[in-house]
This record gives sequence, structure tokens and C-alpha cells, in this order.
Amino acid sequence: MAELTGRVALVTGGTRGIGLATARALAAAGATVVITGRDAARAEAVAKEFGGHGLGLDVADFDAVGAVVKQAAAAHGGLDVLVANAGIMESGLLGMLRANDVRRTLDVNVAGAVAAVQAAGRAMARKRRDADGNERRGGSVVLLASVVGTYGAAGQSVYAASKAALVALARSAARELGPRGIRVNAVAPGVIRTDLTAALPADVLDRQAAAAALGRLGEADEVADVIRFLAGDAARYVTGQVLGVDGGLVP
Ligand code: NAD
Repeated sequence: MAELTGRVALVTGGTRGIGLATARALAAAGATVVITGRDAARAEAVAKEFGGHGLGLDVADFDAVGAVVKQAAAAHGGLDVLVANAGIMESGLLGMLRANDVRRTLDVNVAGAVAAVQAAGRAMARKRRDADGNERRGGSVVLLASVVGTYGAAGQSVYAASKAALVALARSAARELGPRGIRVNAVAPGVIRTDLTAALPADVLDRQAAAAALGRLGEADEVADVIRFLAGDAARYVTGQVLGVDGGLVP
């Protein structure tokens, strides 16, 4: 039996990049996977490819996040895994930032994750039965932090601050939810080749590749494999951790 057979997983922002790679990896490990995207029709279409389900959701809408997590859990008999992946990276030097830029990043990256963890915590705390009739409680939450949340990056102060906030969220939620059997961890990717980083100048990408011990940028499936590990029982005694997936980046 595959590692995640009988488990239900929700991946926010799952229509491309790391989210899509994660949804594929979880589905390949046997999970029933629900992805969310801002465009419901697109999310449904993308999910078909790996036999999953798609729902529309703008994670900047705090209440909508809670409602969609609840809806997904109700539709599939519970929730075992949450990957709060949806995020934006808006660059801008400190002197150029406007209030709305700051709020948008914090709404999507931080408040969106808080709402998802809150709702997932409620769903995962509930007792449910697996396919074999065994009673189960608890679950695994994975947040998408970033190396810039630790090291910082010129021109990315707000994005970096939002990712540092997710580290604190993971550690705090791990403490609150641990007694209910819910693990909360974060991954901190380095520079991964997705749409998010495609807009970065080529010389920046070259420098980042050279700064990694492995001498190259990362791929979305390399982050997804680590998330799958954290989602499953192989990581059953791992919580409140931040796992770097950065090729040995030395900034
Ligand atoms: P991406 O831009 O390819 O994907 C981001 C996903 O989030 C997309 O599906 C997008 O539609 C979704 N999204 C954005 N705003 C949303 C909103 N308001 N509501 C719902 N969905 C929304 O980027 P990616 O590289 O796959 O990034 C995924 C996560 O990993 C992000 O949180 C990002 O910050 C983080 N991360 C990425 C890298 C990297 O190098 N690519 C490094 C560190 C962390």
C-alpha cells in the first residue's frame, strides 16, 4: 500500500510550480488530493491530470480560506495533510514600497497561511475513520517559508518578512496543535525554477546557482519530495522544524 493511501491532502496554490509538483507527489503516494487556485475551472482542469479535485480560492480572503478547507474536509471525510503553498513574491526597494504592496504580501503569504492552519487544525483534530475502519485523529501541515526569510534579500524586504513570519507560525502552531496529534513544519526552499523566479534577472539566477553547494538551482519536484516526507508517517516525530531545500546555499 502506498504511503499516503486513504489520506486526504489539500494544497493551496496547486495549479503550478511547487504546489502542482507537491500535489502530484502526494497523489502518487496514494493521497486523495484537493488543490485550490484563484480560478476554479483551471484548478479543476489541472487536478484531473493526477486524479484529484480542484476548488476556487483567493487565499487573501481569510474567511474564504476557512470555508474552503472545511468544504474539502467535509467532501472527503476529513483532512490529513495541508500544504499552505500559495504565495506571491513582489520585489521592491524599501524606499519605493507603498502600504498596499505591504498589505497584499502579508495578506496572501501570512494571513492566508494562518487561516489555512486554523481551519486545518479544526478539521484534523476531529476523529475520523480510515478505509480499514480504524479511528484516526491528527495530521500534518507544511508551510512554504524561504531562505530569504532567514538571510534576507535586498529588494525583497516584505517578502522576506512574510516568510520569516511563516517560520514563527510553524513553530507556534506546532506547540498549540501538537497535543492533538497535528504536526506543523515548514520547508525553506532556495531558488527553485518556477514562474515565481522566472522573472528574476539571469545574472541573479546565475549567482544564486553558483552560491549553492550543488552548483545549480532547484526544481519544483525536489521541494515536493521533501514535503511528501513531512506529510507522511516517516516524519511522525518531526514537528516545529524548518527544513532547508536549497542545495546547500551559502548566501
Ligand atoms: P508560483 O508563482 O509558480 O506558484 C504560486 C502559486 O500560488 C500559484 O499557483 C498562484 O496562483 C498561487 N497564488 C498566488 N496568490 C494567490 C492567492 N491570492 N490566492 C490563491 N492562490 C494564489 O510560485 P512557486 O515558486 O511554485 O511558489 C510556491 C510557494 O513556494 C510560494 O509560497 C513561494 O513563496 C514559495 N517559495 C518559492 C521559492 C522559489 O524559488 N520558487 C523559494 C522559496 C519559497
